[in-house]
Amino acid sequence: MHTPHLRYNDYGSAMRRRMGGRVQKLAIDAHLGCPNRDGTIAHGGCTFCLDKAFSPAYKEQPSTITQQIDSALHFHAARRRTADTYLAYFQTGTNTYASADRLEEIYSEALAHPAIKGIIVGTRPDCITSEKLDLLEHLSHNRYVAIEYGIESTNDDTLRHINRHHTFVTAQRAIALTRERGIDVGAHLILGLPFDDHAHILESILKINSLGINYIKFHQLQIYRGTAIATEWLDHPERFSFYNSLNAEIYADLLVDILRHLNSDIAVDRFVSTAPHNLVLHSPLGGIRPDTMRSMVIERLTTLNAQQGDALR
Ligand code: SF4
Repeated sequence: MHTPHLRYNDYGSAMRRRMGGRVQKLAIDAHLGCPNRDGTIAHGGCTFCLDKAFSPAYKEQPSTITQQIDSALHFHAARRRTADTYLAYFQTGTNTYASADRLEEIYSEALAHPAIKGIIVGTRPDCITSEKLDLLEHLSHNRYVAIEYGIESTNDDTLRHINRHHTFVTAQRAIALTRERGIDVGAHLILGLPFDDHAHILESILKINSLGINYIKFHQLQIYRGTAIATEWLDHPERFSFYNSLNAEIYADLLVDILRHLNSDIAVDRFVSTAPHNLVLHSPLGGIRPDTMRSMVIERLTTLNAQQGDALR
C-alpha cells in the first residue's frame, strides 16, 4: 500500500498504521557471533562485513539486553526521538545462532522489558530451524515478531564471490517457511557488489517480488577499512565498474527504477546505510543522510509521476 504523498510503500508509515503510533527500533547486540566467521560455516565472514559497523552508538560492552534497552531509550530520549512503540532489534551478528533454549532466554529478556512491544531478529537464511521458528511463532502470538534475512544478492555467483556460503534458494526456503508461520519477514539487499550492474539489480528485484517478504532494506555497498572487499576494491577496480560509477544522483535514479519494479506490497525501510565515518574507506554516496536520499527519490518519483510497482503493470 502506498503512502500517497511519498509514492512508495514506506515502512515507517506502514508500521505506524499497524502499531497505532510511531515505532522506534532499539538496536541490541546479543553477542551471538556468526557461524560464517568462527569456522562453523566458514572463516573470515562475508567479504564486506565489519561487525562493529553495526554496533549502536549507545552500546556499552559487554552489557545485558535489559541494560542495552535502557541505554537505547536514554539515547533516543536525549535526542527527543520518543515513540509510541519500541521494538528490540537484534541487529549485530547472526541472531538465531544459538540453541532454541538460549534464544528463548535472550528474546524473552527483551520482551520482558516494560517498554518493548516486539522483536526484530536479524539473521542468515541458513541459520533458522523449525525449532527456532516454533519459538518465534509462539512469541508472535501476542507480540510483534519479524525476522530480517540477509539476502544481500539473488545471484549465486555473487554470493559465492563475497564468501556468503549460502545460495539464493536457501533464502527462498527460509522465507517461505517463515511466512508459513505468519511471521513478518524483512530482507537486506546490497547494491553495488562486485560485478553488479543496473540490469542485474533490476533482475534481482523481480526475484525479490516473488519471495512474499513484508519489507526490504537497500544498502549501498560501503567499503569498510580492513575488510576483504577493501583489498579487492583496491586490487581489482575493474570488478567494481558499476559501483565506482555511482554517486548520489545516479544512485537516486537507480532507486527510482528499483521502486518502479518493486511489488507495491513490499514496504521499503531503507535506501542507504550509514556507518561511523572513521570505519569507511569508501562509499559512493559520501556521508549522505538517509533523509536526503529519501527526499531525492520522492522528488524524482513526483517529477516522473511514477510510483512503486508501476513498471510491473
Ligand atoms: S554479514 Fe552477517 S553473515 Fe556475514 S559475516 Fe557479517 S554477521 Fe556474519
